[in-house]
Amino acid sequence: MTKIEKNLDDIPPSLKGGANSKRNGVIANAKFITTKKYRDFYKKKDTTTLLKRIYKNKCAYCEQIVLQDSEQNKTLPNDKSIVEHYRPTSKYYWLAYSWDNLLLSCLACSDNKGNDFEIINQKIEYSNSFKNKIHKSTKLYNRLEKPKMIHPELEDIKDKLDFNRDGVIKSADERVKYTIKTCKLDRYELNEKRQTVLNKLIDDINYVIEQKESMRDVILNFMDKNNDFIAFRIWISKNRKELLRKNG
Ligand SMILES: [Zn+2]
Repeated sequence: MTKIEKNLDDIPPSLKGGANSKRNGVIANAKFITTKKYRDFYKKKDTTTLLKRIYKNKCAYCEQIVLQDSEQNKTLPNDKSIVEHYRPTSKYYWLAYSWDNLLLSCLACSDNKGNDFEIINQKIEYSNSFKNKIHKSTKLYNRLEKPKMIHPELEDIKDKLDFNRDGVIKSADERVKYTIKTCKLDRYELNEKRQTVLNKLIDDINYVIEQKESMRDVILNFMDKNNDFIAFRIWISKNRKELLRKNG
């Protein structure tokens, strides 16, 4: 997981327009309404397009690519992304259409997280006064409730994440541990993919050494912000001396 910059004033039009009446309906019902009409409104094209741009087509939690760039990869239109609610609609129905509660996620992380959202303090219940700041309430709610789940748009946890050379993710921090466990960020498939990232770097480095080519492009490509698993790449960069000595 890596810190994501989102402009909370750049709200997709559908979340400001049509979503208002849907939100009112959900609030009157005091529970999220799961019919298509209500579910469709937080994932209109303007919202998904903007989220994909902000998240660079990567999952907010595990950082794997969820959508191939159709310009570069016309043969790979695979969209494995989902609009994910940081605070689940099952417990926070009034936040179903709130811009700062919407993240881009892969199906697996979203499924794993499900309705899990443990908090340390007391849960906030709906109040009419919330409507004024409906797209910018996460910071305040987090201060009051103290959730265990990390919000990637609010927190930078790169110094709290640890990995090993097999791509296994871990942390000594309780909240980061909760996030890893809840989204299953240590699942086999992800560890394998991260391990591949390191192995490919080692291969690339060995190749340019052999060919007496410049290392600069390898490093620039490796650290490109559009890549998957940025937190792991940062960890590799920090520990490169030890990692590359063992395998170089
Ligand atoms: Zn994911």
